Amino acid sequence: MIEANDPSLKSWVEVPKGSDFPIQNLPFGIFKTQSSNARVGVAIGNQVLDLLILNKLGFFDDFKIHDSVFNNPYLNDLIALGKPFCGALRQRISKLLNINNPELRDNKNARLKVLNFSYNVQMQMPIKVGDYTDFYSSMDHATNVGTMFRDPANALLPNWKHLPVGYHGRASSIIVSDTPFHRPKGQTKPADSDLPIFGPSKLMDFELEVAFVIGKETKLGETISTEEASNYIFGLALFNDWSARDIQTWEYVPLGPFLAKNFASTISPWIVTLDALEPFRTAGYKQEPKVLPYLKYKGEKNIDIQLEVFIQPENGEDNLICKSNYKFMYWTMEQQLAHHTSNGCNINICDLMASGTISGPTPDSYGSMLELSWKGTKPITLKDGSERKFINDNDTVTIRGFSEKHGVRIGFGEAKGKLLKSL
Ligand code: MN
Repeated sequence: MIEANDPSLKSWVEVPKGSDFPIQNLPFGIFKTQSSNARVGVAIGNQVLDLLILNKLGFFDDFKIHDSVFNNPYLNDLIALGKPFCGALRQRISKLLNINNPELRDNKNARLKVLNFSYNVQMQMPIKVGDYTDFYSSMDHATNVGTMFRDPANALLPNWKHLPVGYHGRASSIIVSDTPFHRPKGQTKPADSDLPIFGPSKLMDFELEVAFVIGKETKLGETISTEEASNYIFGLALFNDWSARDIQTWEYVPLGPFLAKNFASTISPWIVTLDALEPFRTAGYKQEPKVLPYLKYKGEKNIDIQLEVFIQPENGEDNLICKSNYKFMYWTMEQQLAHHTSNGCNINICDLMASGTISGPTPDSYGSMLELSWKGTKPITLKDGSERKFINDNDTVTIRGFSEKHGVRIGFGEAKGKLLKSL
């Protein structure tokens, strides 16, 4: 077991009940305050630990890390030091925050310098994303979409159970939680028209996803086996792959998603390490028919992460509209990575790989408005009495997620985005 994951650990930093960030989590992110520039931090309870100042004060002397790794607007340089190195650093941070360790606990001067209350910090985009890939790995989601648009009897296309379907997305428009954006314009073809029109999307949707961050690169031509794959995965974040369904329907044939998805994708600011999530591994769906040898894996490779989606109308209350779970993924991260590199495609530090919409087997677990409202035929009623088939202007969509076991809750914070009216 990873020492920093021990459920019995306690911190001298107060961690409120139900907090996403107990001492067993210690996710990495980038924050700034009114008086400091962007830098690397770690979340603990309602506070953010400043790793740059800890380094300057000598608390990481054994690691010999240059200040520039922490005095940095992205986590890339830290993650590039390697997963074993970052794991050891997480272990050191766990020691420093441990209730029984006086080193930092009893050094009031240092304590005041390295801890910032969350309400005083502004979270930044955590990583400079290299390449971004989006998969389509939830069987319930793929089945729902196939049922709606093709044939309920043959909802999954012939390839679906043989390979994790994916496409190359766009990294430039990935935005951190709390960054509003405008409803995209695009080309659509109304059902009652022979010709397409150009204008604001009328069918804006979210996609409930989880993304993983690459923590080790490969060279062109190298492949990764399912067994080694977890060594290449640094951590995970919540991800909303905003989608304009009307643009998508018209443009996606024959090459797949393009402008319907590349205008904005929202990521949560804390990267929860895969190390912290290892205790929550669980079994996934049985894969039948059997997969090809390069996609076979041993053990439990899914992760139990409870996921929730909320819609908040302008000046209104949050409405819980979906409860799903990352364990509903048919294809695991390890298989996605093995498949992605099976042709020799190289991967780089801080590439991002998203799961695809994560729907579960029941209608309350569907991870998009397309499915929740079943193509707009079953509107959802919010607490204020208004109805939603898709997302309205000025709605805020929030994804939350956490794993919980043995009294330990490893949370992700949130991926929140407000849809502004089209420009
Ligand atoms: Mn997607």
